Amino acid sequence: MKHTYYIWTIGCQMNHADSRHLAAQMEERGYQPAEAAHLADLIILNTCVIRQQAEDKALDQLRQLKGLKRSRPDLVVAVMGCMVGKKLEAALREHYPFVDVFMGPSETEPLMEFLGGSDLPDAPGSGCGRALPPSAQGRTFTAFVPVVLGCSHACTYCVIPSRRGGERSRPKSDILNEVRELAREGVKEITLLGQIVDRYGTDFDDGTHLAHLLKEAAAIEGVARVRFLTSHPNWFTDELLETVATTDKICPCIEIPVQAGNDEVLARMRRGYTAEQYRRLVAKIRARIPHVAINTDIIVGFPGETEAGFMDTYRLMEELQFDMAHIARYSVRPGTPAARNLEDDVPEEEKERRRVALEALLNESLEKKHAALAGTTVELLVEGKSGRRWLGRTPQNKVVLIEDAQDLGGRIVQATITRTGAFSQYGEIK
Ligand code: SAH
Repeated sequence: MKHTYYIWTIGCQMNHADSRHLAAQMEERGYQPAEAAHLADLIILNTCVIRQQAEDKALDQLRQLKGLKRSRPDLVVAVMGCMVGKKLEAALREHYPFVDVFMGPSETEPLMEFLGGSDLPDAPGSGCGRALPPSAQGRTFTAFVPVVLGCSHACTYCVIPSRRGGERSRPKSDILNEVRELAREGVKEITLLGQIVDRYGTDFDDGTHLAHLLKEAAAIEGVARVRFLTSHPNWFTDELLETVATTDKICPCIEIPVQAGNDEVLARMRRGYTAEQYRRLVAKIRARIPHVAINTDIIVGFPGETEAGFMDTYRLMEELQFDMAHIARYSVRPGTPAARNLEDDVPEEEKERRRVALEALLNESLEKKHAALAGTTVELLVEGKSGRRWLGRTPQNKVVLIEDAQDLGGRIVQATITRTGAFSQYGEIK
């Protein structure tokens, strides 16, 4: 009988990419995916600690794993991702003795060694090896590809630099090989990932730039769409804007976190720009690409955020009418500059009030914005089923649900929007 594995992934797109790499390696070793965690011989928990909420989720799953391991001592348990920092491993081992293997973000070798390290397959992207686990081939039409690993920007609230290490760009040839392999295995849409993806290549000193990488990825046979995230306003160059504007396959969807609309808060976050500079950049992007979608991230209740400071964020959101905003309450992360130097002085109920106010604003502006889509025709890449409907996304990353008897998985279709809402639209095939 074949051994089975199950991967639990919490957190960002980068973690999902790491889980995919690991799944491909597991299946090359002869493992098969289990239908559910409790049926697997090997369980990997891929953790996130970006906010306390994510960390709590990981801790909760660790408790469940402890129970599973007690009833089945032969179960292999591995924990990876941002909960596992270099310096934290000894403490984790002591706390969670039932875990067989700990490995940091993007690491797979410790598990491969644990399983018997003699004939390690090459990592995906190296030219050999698969990019998708065979069990997902022909069924997975979108994939995340890390291009910048780690981060050196050191926003004061953020735990990522200490968990994922300093910023380094992956060689362009590795990335393009991985994209080629994904396309061969049926993937239609590629999202290039980095904490500050628009810094891609700045550590090479040979003029390599995200704009070139995007164009080359878009030119690969079988690739229908290319996306990239997350951009930082200070590195979003005119060349990048021009490339997005003039390359059909690069989706007009920019993920560019503002984090706050108040300059003092932005300075304490060490973001490196003012609200006015951010506004000007958004205006420039929209002037060049009128149909662009602009998505953002916002933190409310950062240390020292007054009511007036919060209202600056509120007004910025009201004015810029984002296409999506991920709004989070500030969460103290041990070891970050903010945790060391700034008092977490906005009460939790107040943070929640501010979050809810921004969510309401977002809802309202999305409803209005999307209402204008009714009756129009959009292009969708159909990713799969969502209940009885097919789920597709527009180039702007808007979700459209359609009912159709045909198998539309992986297809690019034209659809007419029949009903709209803040988060999903409904449509029919043209
Ligand atoms: N590197 C990206 C994304 C980092 S994590 C960037 O440049 O922003 C994704 C989002 O989580 C961030 O944009 C931020 O809004 C949020 N986040 C990060 N640390 C946080 C913290 N300590 N508390 C609350 N939200 C946080």
